[in-house]
Amino acid sequence: MKRLLFLCVLVLFLVYIAPLGFQFYRNHQEAEQTIHTVQNVEITSEPQTSEGENAESEDKNAENTSQDENSADESEAQDTLLTVSVDGSVREMALEDYVAGAVAAEMPASFPEEALKAQAVAARTYAVYKQSLGKDETHPDAVVCDDYTHCAAFVDLDHGAQELWGKNADEWSEKVRNAAQATAGKIVTYDGQPIAAVFHAASADQTEAAVSVWGSDIPYLSSVESDGDDACPKYDASVTFGSEEFRQIMLTQYPDINLTGLPKTWFTDIQSSEAGGVTACKIGGKELKGTEVRTLFELNSTHFTISTTDTSITFHTEGYGHGVGMSQYGAKSMAEDGKSYEDIVLHYYTDTEISDITS
Ligand SMILES: [Zn+2]
Repeated sequence: MKRLLFLCVLVLFLVYIAPLGFQFYRNHQEAEQTIHTVQNVEITSEPQTSEGENAESEDKNAENTSQDENSADESEAQDTLLTVSVDGSVREMALEDYVAGAVAAEMPASFPEEALKAQAVAARTYAVYKQSLGKDETHPDAVVCDDYTHCAAFVDLDHGAQELWGKNADEWSEKVRNAAQATAGKIVTYDGQPIAAVFHAASADQTEAAVSVWGSDIPYLSSVESDGDDACPKYDASVTFGSEEFRQIMLTQYPDINLTGLPKTWFTDIQSSEAGGVTACKIGGKELKGTEVRTLFELNSTHFTISTTDTSITFHTEGYGHGVGMSQYGAKSMAEDGKSYEDIVLHYYTDTEISDITS
């Protein structure tokens, strides 16, 4: 009898409770997957300094295709167009449609409205900044592409919302479009120029200065405090490598290094930034940048510590992404505390202003 009861309970669990757990896990995974970080941003510390580059360069770009049709009415100047490389083919679209699609692809739509607006301003600013740099060698016919490791992720909301959000597609498309519309034409500037408005999922208490991660000192990408980042599901992580596996990964890349003896002797001269991220360290006598270690071992961030046993090496990371610029979970936390998108943007991008594209 007892066994029968147990079986009944087991069947009930398998049929009703377990699928719920699985669904929760899937939703969780999906939410995580939409968090991307601009990783390999090419930072030029001197974006073109010519005056009036925002609106001017937008027009310049349009010249490629319609130089002779300059009747292209002034009245449409409001509807700024942007060339975007989507799945490798170049498309021209309204800037605000691009912004909405970039927000959709880069930040969970469940985030508070002010955080989504801050993301919209960052995405728009980044596009205008890219335009100010002139032709991109990777995609010379488009200002930005949809590769998040190069520019920013993008999803065409007219066709991709269903796949991205399922039953929430209508509601979240509207929420994301509203974030773009409510901030239409607003960009972040430093000294009157559009900034490289980079962002990441979560930092560890403090964002990283650009100089600590990429080596170029960019005044508006300094290290600032960031709260609430630990709400990011990937905030804390540990990755362990067997010593032989670790040795193989290192030797494939650096054949002349010395990894003999116990793992605890392999790591020396660990240097950290003021935000606590590893800027450089020596492994087997070879000096590596923190970003190189991150790439080599696919770590969530450069904010890592190393612990060893006689047979293994463990990296423990905090934060997710390069740590520079706006923290998306930090933005979420500020929005939940009642801060506006202006507060968020101006907090993460030091000494900047919010300006109109056309001004
Ligand atoms: Zn690109």
